[in-house]
Amino acid sequence: MPPREDGSVLVGDIAYSTEEWESLLAKNLDSLKKLWPKTNGVVNIPYKISNPEVSTAKLKGAFSAWESKTCVKFSKMAKSDKYMEYLDFVITGTTCSSNIGYTKGKITSVNLPSSCSFKAFKHELGHSMGLRHEMNRSDRDKHIIVISGVKYKPGFDSQFALMNTINFDIPYDYCSIMHYTDKVGSENYEHTMLALDARFQTLMGWCSTNITHWNYKLVNTMYNCTDDWLKACKQESDPCKNGGYTRKDCSCACPLGTSGDKCENLDMNYNDAMAKKLSYYTAIIKTSGAKVTSPDYPKPSGMG
Ligand SMILES: [Zn+2]
Repeated sequence: MPPREDGSVLVGDIAYSTEEWESLLAKNLDSLKKLWPKTNGVVNIPYKISNPEVSTAKLKGAFSAWESKTCVKFSKMAKSDKYMEYLDFVITGTTCSSNIGYTKGKITSVNLPSSCSFKAFKHELGHSMGLRHEMNRSDRDKHIIVISGVKYKPGFDSQFALMNTINFDIPYDYCSIMHYTDKVGSENYEHTMLALDARFQTLMGWCSTNITHWNYKLVNTMYNCTDDWLKACKQESDPCKNGGYTRKDCSCACPLGTSGDKCENLDMNYNDAMAKKLSYYTAIIKTSGAKVTSPDYPKPSGMG
């Protein structure tokens, strides 16, 4: 999102002054300084694995999932490397967690015990790059109801705060890899969130085990990857329509529900397309009093 000549930044039809923009970004990312530095178009994030018990298979898979569609590169530190800021993969306790983004002079700790799923690895790497949870977005009240009066598990009281985020024109995504499931945080396994689009009630936070189009678009926008690619592709503005964006190879990454090389055909909005794709999960099953169980029930997911 490059500033215009007068220093203001245009998002959709809203122009932010430099000061407004920085303060909004600060609220979204803690601080602009939470972004890892970018050199020659690559956001290089050095890392070290302090605990050899951290699953390298899941870690490598999560690295390549992010790297394949962004300009972020995770690179293992050599013994001689003397970075002050890097990701340190550790195991402390049983909760998957991560610090948010880059902090000058500090190590970003990513805690990945063996109970963390492959999805949780991708989620925590999202935090380590600066992403926050989807349900903290400034526009979340148009998409979910955060239920009040819930008895939260310790540490969850502040997890549902409304943050004054700037969302880069990227739509709210129930299937974001950064979205919690609908009962996360409740001491008594009650709902903590209701989906205003009821199709996503049981699907929120579950519906994609993969990093979604909007997750990638957010990272590529935050780190200006797309702007660099547009320049390299000799494009003055992004030719990709309907929420698509230009990738490294100059083709368009298109959201679900669109078609055409430039995502120019809006066949269905994203939520409709996603709900349709997932309809076999939401089909009504009629049983005659049979007991239905699901393997991980009632444990929601191994994510922090
Ligand atoms: Zn998280």
